[in-house]
Amino acid sequence: VRAAPAQEDIRRLNLGAVLRHIHVSGAMSRADLTARLGLNRATIGALTVDLADAGLVSEGTPEAAGRGRGRPSLVVRPESERVYVLAIAVGVERVTMARVGLGGVVLDRRETEATREALTPEAAVATIGEFGAALLKAAPKGSTHVGTGVAVAAIVRTDSGTVRFGPNTGWHEQPLAELVAGALAADSGVTGPVLVGNDADLAALAEHTRGVAAGCGNVVYIQGDVGVGGGIIHDGVLMSGADGYGGEIGHMVVLRDGKRCGCGSRGCWETEIGERAILGAAGHPGSGREAVDAVVEAARRGDVGAQEALRQVGDWLGFGIANLVNIFNPEMVVMGGMLRGVYLAAATQVRSRLRTMALASSLEGVKLRTPLLEEDAPLIGAAELGFARLLTDPLEAAAG
Ligand SMILES: [Zn+2]
Repeated sequence: VRAAPAQEDIRRLNLGAVLRHIHVSGAMSRADLTARLGLNRATIGALTVDLADAGLVSEGTPEAAGRGRGRPSLVVRPESERVYVLAIAVGVERVTMARVGLGGVVLDRRETEATREALTPEAAVATIGEFGAALLKAAPKGSTHVGTGVAVAAIVRTDSGTVRFGPNTGWHEQPLAELVAGALAADSGVTGPVLVGNDADLAALAEHTRGVAAGCGNVVYIQGDVGVGGGIIHDGVLMSGADGYGGEIGHMVVLRDGKRCGCGSRGCWETEIGERAILGAAGHPGSGREAVDAVVEAARRGDVGAQEALRQVGDWLGFGIANLVNIFNPEMVVMGGMLRGVYLAAATQVRSRLRTMALASSLEGVKLRTPLLEEDAPLIGAAELGFARLLTDPLEAAAG
């Protein structure tokens, strides 16, 4: 006798909830799952058996089982080595790709050398096809690919996976999801949908799920690549806007008739805190992430010119954050990518500007932080996108 559809729906929701807990929090006893999910012990037991039969989790006795206190509750562990997604981060001048296991574990990764030029879509997609084939070839026998996610430094239409515009790459209307799916199918026979999101949005979600902002409902995440992107989490949900283009804080205008921006406007925040601004202020002739890191390192070693450049950029960083604090009243502001090093070198200027510009009431609870996932925040965010289907309908997704 088939169960009524309503019961099937509830079972699917519960399987997803159990698997999501294991994925986010790691190994956990049946007893803890029972307490956390508010379901009864028999239901949790049935759900974990189903997930184990599907090869998604394993169950065993705890490593340090206490004696004399009755039978210990079985521990449910994610099958991180066996169940994985392909996660891809496409920056302005670099592609990173990894096999990421259930539980958010980076199992194997490939990364291009940074170049001095922005990537073309053709070059990025060819690299993804090549890396995908290498990663799958190295995957253990019997392991299962359950999804693919891409984080890209561009404005993305998430429902179709189309890059509308990359202010620092010059990409226009590129059907990235389709191109990546095509390359993976051709080079390694991988099928299934490819989901694409903005890198800063996905980094914000990754830090919110398993990083420095875990447990924070209201977060502003600032991602510095060549330009500056943003991800805003409001009441635990990513603020995406009507078409998914929201959160482009790098293009918040901070200076009337300021410098020309890659987006076509003038005086955007990224023209004062982006890569070109930092290197220009420091008089550094190079470009790219290594050049920015070299300025930060020079300042740390006492180079007066580099210190002055970072003070100036830090002041502008605080200027923009003050506006964001006044608008969003976040609990936490996270500065990632190249802005991590800039903030750590210029925290005094950032805080000083915040004290003079932000509303005291909004500023008093704000924590300024750098990402726990460090450089991998966009990559792990892309992995979470890849896991979304599995965590919504575990048995269906595991069956392929
Ligand atoms: Zn702009």
